[in-house]
Amino acid sequence: MPPRDMVNRPGLGDPRDVVADKRDGRELSPDALRTFVLGYARGEVPDYLAAAWLMAAYLNGLSPRETAALTRAMVESGTTLPLSGVSRPKVDKHSTGGVSDGVTLVFAPLAASLGLAVAKLSGRGLGHTGGTLDKLESIPGLRTDLTPGEIERQVEEVGCAVAGQSTDLVPADGALYALRDATATVDSIPLIAASVMSKKLAVGTDLILLDVKAGSGAFMKTPEAAGELASLCVRLATDWDRPALAAVTDMSQPLGTAIGNALDVAESVRVLSGDEAGPLRDLAVLFAAAALGALAGVEEADARSRAGAALDSGSAAERFARMVEAQGGDPRVIEDPWAILPRAPVRTDIRSPEDGWLAAVDGEALGRTGVFLGAGRRRKDDPIDPAVGIVFRAKIGDRLTRGDPIGEVHARDEDAATVAVERSLRALSVAGQPVAPPPLLHGWYPAGPS
Ligand code: URA
Repeated sequence: MPPRDMVNRPGLGDPRDVVADKRDGRELSPDALRTFVLGYARGEVPDYLAAAWLMAAYLNGLSPRETAALTRAMVESGTTLPLSGVSRPKVDKHSTGGVSDGVTLVFAPLAASLGLAVAKLSGRGLGHTGGTLDKLESIPGLRTDLTPGEIERQVEEVGCAVAGQSTDLVPADGALYALRDATATVDSIPLIAASVMSKKLAVGTDLILLDVKAGSGAFMKTPEAAGELASLCVRLATDWDRPALAAVTDMSQPLGTAIGNALDVAESVRVLSGDEAGPLRDLAVLFAAAALGALAGVEEADARSRAGAALDSGSAAERFARMVEAQGGDPRVIEDPWAILPRAPVRTDIRSPEDGWLAAVDGEALGRTGVFLGAGRRRKDDPIDPAVGIVFRAKIGDRLTRGDPIGEVHARDEDAATVAVERSLRALSVAGQPVAPPPLLHGWYPAGPS
């Protein structure tokens, strides 16, 4: 029997009823939700009603049954990609969104170079966070609008493909994702879980790896909230009989150093080529090792050392070049990124405001400063400026000396650069005593590799 206050309206009916029911805190039936979501994906439900529904869902939450129904409706809004023609063990990885989070750009070719197949549907920048598709598209000519057939062929031939949801694959997520970004309805646990998991469940991989970010630069500000999101995502995968592992990882500061699009690609190329150590490399290695462990039974220390060797030998970078070329971009990006990538005309240093130790970074404020510069969208259809952004090198716990450069702003003009430097400095706290750096990994869901 459905719960007493569950609304069960046949057909689309009047979509305003679905909005009103959610507004008034009644649980929607899977049918009502499905009809509303599929109607929105087909353009039959207007943006303003979907925006009102999103806000009602944001404020009143979604029950586990509604979240599962929303996820299923999003998957069913398009075709799925079973990847039955791919012979190697298949893995997908997704981040819930962060600042300077280039892990996918490193992980996908790294895992491919280790003998796995990576088929990944990524997203665009959302709120203050960066998006893998926007980053990749800063490589001139590179396409992310691959058809299901192109994705499957490329994964079999190259070992990895990173594409966007499309009119074929999970179109409802594409539409709702852009609308959430424009209506301040992003940071909701069930909406994020449904968005992430719809893209993962639409693709037939053997393992789903989730990087659930926690901290000032993430949508979930605490490891506890991130743990709740991780558990919900894993539960959705379990309901579909799909193996999934979620790591809650640190986003109390930008993960890498680059906040932008071309800047992120250049940083990822350095990591892929074994030229840059740090948390971005460490996290890509952690996920590659988890995938090798789960799919090929490789013991953890061995898996980590194989992943590190693939970065240091150039084999992961070579795989990235093949993926870029297969998607229409210039593979020379791995030899000389700045000969290929767009560069901003103005560069201004960010200098330490005080002597002391870097105590805290407001990652969201830095991400928003990137959006202000043009690296992200303020409105749904805003174009992205691939060249602009921030390079922020200091990490929590670092000793700072007043006036020393700790990063730089890459901007279109001097005025934007001046504002961005001021905003970046406001995002930092400096302490008079040493500060311990945060741990990179808070834990796995379900408890698993360390
Ligand atoms: N990544 C997604 O795909 N969706 C979200 O809602 C957040 C991060």
